[in-house]
Amino acid sequence: MKVTDHIANRKGRTLFTLELLPPLKGENIEAINQTIDPLVEFCPSFIDVTYHREEIIYKQREDGLLERKTIRKRPGTVGISAAIKYKYNIDVVPHIICGGFSREETENALIDLYFLGIDNLLLLRGDNPAGEKTFKPEKDGNAFAIDLVKQVMDLNHGKYLEEEMINAIPTNFCIGVAGYPEKHVEAPNMITDLAHLKEKVDAGANYIVTQMFFDNKKFFSFEKACRDAGITVPIIPGLKPISVKSQLTALPKTFTIDLPEELVIEIEKCTDKEQIRQVGVEWAIHQSKELINFGVPVLHFYTMGKSDNIRKIIKEVF
Ligand code: FAD
Repeated sequence: MKVTDHIANRKGRTLFTLELLPPLKGENIEAINQTIDPLVEFCPSFIDVTYHREEIIYKQREDGLLERKTIRKRPGTVGISAAIKYKYNIDVVPHIICGGFSREETENALIDLYFLGIDNLLLLRGDNPAGEKTFKPEKDGNAFAIDLVKQVMDLNHGKYLEEEMINAIPTNFCIGVAGYPEKHVEAPNMITDLAHLKEKVDAGANYIVTQMFFDNKKFFSFEKACRDAGITVPIIPGLKPISVKSQLTALPKTFTIDLPEELVIEIEKCTDKEQIRQVGVEWAIHQSKELINFGVPVLHFYTMGKSDNIRKIIKEVF
């Protein structure tokens, strides 16, 4: 079932989804099950599975020179999505990225997903590989998320890359895209960023999921700015409970977001790891309750592979 159908059938309730990371290469899919199992009783409406592009590493050769290698540390998004869907009977939203893929490779992945009965996609540009300053698409790849939206919409209309194909079966994917309540790092200003977001929606995106934020006021003004800009699709807020102290600096740096002073003070006061995790949980509970009262259709929880804290939040909120 499509994310938009879940939203249409929710009867005023707020739903929730989890975002999971594929396990590191060489690990077992059991890690995924261990993240989902404690949450199944709360009935997540769907589950997102992230996509991870290859990374560039340099290995020292015997002659002392460095050899440049690319490795993909977290492969398996398509397989894991299908495994979740058929083990748990829960809808899934695999993420698909532009970075590292030609349009043909993307099309082949989309065909796999279509044959696997997967109805939803979250379409993203992806970040630069670690160590590279700018995002570079593949020679025959998509440069922005909107290009990916257009490619999927073409497929939804039965238009494959080989244009001479006739009577090709159209896919029927529901499309989500990303939005940034605190602006995407590369956008020169919020208005330009919103204009690009509207282009993604006008091209066919059915809903938006936001970057994580810790101050609901940022979400409320983003939602209003989207509506003022003529964006009418559902907007799903992304929430992440702080779980370790190092995130006070890592999250702002990685995601270009602010952490409210009050939250930082509370974390600084903690004397052990458990207390920090608990402050993160309580902050997310407060955020969730306020967002539900505001009427958001779905809460999207970034799990980062751990669900004990998400379970506490969901138990309290739903
Ligand atoms: P875009 O929408 O393409 O925008 C990127 C930048 O380009 C923005 O600054 C935008 O304003 C600008 N822009 C857009 N269109 C144009 C245009 N036509 N001309 C000029 N500028 C333009 N990354 C992963 O690698 N894997 C994941 O699974 C993943 N999941 C995510 C889930 C969520 C909910 C979010 C919020 C992010 C996720 N990301 C993921 C991170 C994401 O890939 C990065 O934030 C990336 O830098 C931007 O992706 P985007 O889809 O928003 O890009």
